[in-house]
Amino acid sequence: MTISVVVPVYNEEENIRLLHERLKEVLGRLNKEYEILFVDDGSADRTLSILEEIHAKDERVTVLSLRRNFGQTAAFAAGFDFARGDIIVTMDGDLQNDPADIPKLLELIKDNDLVSGWRKKRKDPFFTRRLPSVIANWLISKVTGVKLHDYGCSLKAYRRDVIKNLKLYGEMHRFIPAVASWYGVRVAEVETVHHRRMRGKSKYGISRTIKVVLDLITVKFLQSFSTKPIQFFGPVGIICSFIGFLISLSLTIDKLFFGRDIGSRPLLLLGVLMIIVGIQLIGMGLLGEMIVRVYHESQRKPIYVIKKILGPENK
Ligand code: UDP
Ligand code: MG
Repeated sequence: MTISVVVPVYNEEENIRLLHERLKEVLGRLNKEYEILFVDDGSADRTLSILEEIHAKDERVTVLSLRRNFGQTAAFAAGFDFARGDIIVTMDGDLQNDPADIPKLLELIKDNDLVSGWRKKRKDPFFTRRLPSVIANWLISKVTGVKLHDYGCSLKAYRRDVIKNLKLYGEMHRFIPAVASWYGVRVAEVETVHHRRMRGKSKYGISRTIKVVLDLITVKFLQSFSTKPIQFFGPVGIICSFIGFLISLSLTIDKLFFGRDIGSRPLLLLGVLMIIVGIQLIGMGLLGEMIVRVYHESQRKPIYVIKKILGPENK
């Protein structure tokens, strides 16, 4: 078992030296092959030059330097692409996650495919960070059906194939456990310590909450939509059209058999609207079906994920 630790860093000049020391201590004690990948996410301070020094002294350190600040998700994705380990561990570069928790994650990954840290005693401001996070975690758990206390914790461990099968967009890294678990990945959660940020500044504030909510909508939508859009839009469309049809039918009967004037009745508008909206929804579902086919077929992206193949060559 070899281990890759991926750490995105953005303007963390005061933290990385100490972090590297602590990582070396903890990983060295494991008696396993390991590598540390620092991903410099376009830092404007001395982060990169310090990383270069560390790299010169420690052959187990790889440094990836992104051209500009692409954000934490992109930095993780870069790290994942270059990671060679069987197990990939991610963490923050500001020492808020503790490297001493890594062995705990590695222990659990033996029986799981993904282990997520849980900052039970989180040391961040209450109103701008912890409260939104409690609500967000509840919401994400409800919507995705994958119950975790702390989606936002960067300290996680993945089996290699879990990560290599995923494509990350936007701010999606926190949703990896949800998406992965839809693929049938076993997810576990473990309590980890969390420290106050001692040096440097946090890169996030309350505005992040909105981004997370939008990403959640995207994730949920993709989950329902990506292979079966007509099943998603179709039922609503049929129900709308049917209600519209009933309304219009009753109005027609009124007009034809009872000779009442229907031109000035609001119900007429509603009936017509429901029929049109219903047909459009069904049309959207069908368009979606075409897009999905283009998406899967152009990338040769299968609609399933294989865990293991036992063929002639494994005999
Ligand atoms: N980070 C990054 N790119 C960014 C923002 C943050 O690589 O655009 C890194 C940052 O250096 C740190 C980790 O992501 O290692 C978490 O960031 P931060 O500590 O600011 O978040 P918080 O702990 O406040 O949620
Ligand atoms: Mg932090």
